[in-house]
Amino acid sequence: MIQVDVRDLVEHPGASRTVHVDEPVEGLGLELAEVPADAPIEAELLLESVVEGILVSGPLQGSMRFSCARCLKTFERPFDLQVSELFAAETDPGADEYELGPEGSIDLEPMVRDAVMLSIPFSPLCKPDCLGLCERCGGDRNLGECTCPPEVADPRWAVLGDIRFEDLT
Ligand SMILES: [Zn+2]
Ligand SMILES: [Zn+2]
Repeated sequence: MIQVDVRDLVEHPGASRTVHVDEPVEGLGLELAEVPADAPIEAELLLESVVEGILVSGPLQGSMRFSCARCLKTFERPFDLQVSELFAAETDPGADEYELGPEGSIDLEPMVRDAVMLSIPFSPLCKPDCLGLCERCGGDRNLGECTCPPEVADPRWAVLGDIRFEDLT
């Protein structure tokens, strides 16, 4: 829970103020990416009182730890997102707005969670041209750990594998 008391805003439509968030959010992640539990998420959010509720917008920053989808190496990379969400006083059932509680407070955590989860790449790569692991020996091709001979795809070419280069000269 990142609870913010907004009673001062609710009573004054048109009013606004900023809140600074600097908190770790637990359990943020998927199989190949996670926000480390000890890495806080930082946000400088503008809260604006509008007719429908409270509008929250601003940058959201943090760091995410990934496992490369090809070579499985772990690496960290910062993220910088922009959020803009309405916390509605009256939410329709099934609407995807966040809720402004009747007691005049909002919980920023679900919004932070949704924004970060949506930003996670489907297939994180340590570098765009990662060579990945060898399917046969499991060696990391980026490190030259794989010394497997080139795969022979077509059996008709397999016989060429027996010809030594000396024979050709
Ligand atoms: Zn990689
Ligand atoms: Zn190999």
